[in-house]
Amino acid sequence: MLKKTLLLTLAALACAASALPAQAQAKRRPQFALTYDDGPGQITGDLLALLERRKVKATFFLLGTSARRYPELVKKIHDGGHLIANHTDSHKNWFKIGKGEDREKVLAAEVKKAEDAIVKASGFKPAILRMPNGYDRPWVREAVKKLGYRPANWSYGSDWTKTPEAKMTEEYRKATRAGAVLLLHDGGGKSREKTLRLTEAILDEAGRLGLEPVRLDTLLAGPNPRE
Ligand SMILES: [Zn+2]
Repeated sequence: MLKKTLLLTLAALACAASALPAQAQAKRRPQFALTYDDGPGQITGDLLALLERRKVKATFFLLGTSARRYPELVKKIHDGGHLIANHTDSHKNWFKIGKGEDREKVLAAEVKKAEDAIVKASGFKPAILRMPNGYDRPWVREAVKKLGYRPANWSYGSDWTKTPEAKMTEEYRKATRAGAVLLLHDGGGKSREKTLRLTEAILDEAGRLGLEPVRLDTLLAGPNPRE
């Protein structure tokens, strides 16, 4: 399912790229996006400082529960020029709820509640949504669009797994390429200090490869080569 989403995303990117004048394409470095889920959390302030120091804009998929806990950080993310996106309110288990008859109603409530918390804290109304655990089914894509959102998953992410950090860092480096949507976490669970180290490693690799980290809305607007 994730692969299918990625292929669709890449196809959309290719279409967007061909629609732009050659001159505009030539000027830009190949782009990729850093995305952070489940926040804001304890490390979000440090992460924002890191991104500012490296002059990088990223995308934050916020949970409503986290946004109500750290409203000042929601505002800081927005004021920093980063993109805020919706990750639903309470990170429910959609593999279970998706089987229920009232699934669209539950989804609408989850999306709206998170949206309200984000708007209240930052004044910004998000337009991109990522489902918890990358849950992706035809019904959910339709429902998300009806709610006024564009669904978006990721091309690589592993910071929630037990992979040793050195190997994980190597995997993130390898996944850093044009058109990539990298997933990390700045909220939820225990300490997310590792996210800061992984972000530095990814940005070092991007610098080496001449890639430009951009917000997800910028990436989705293309132009970007496939690989
Ligand atoms: Zn999540």
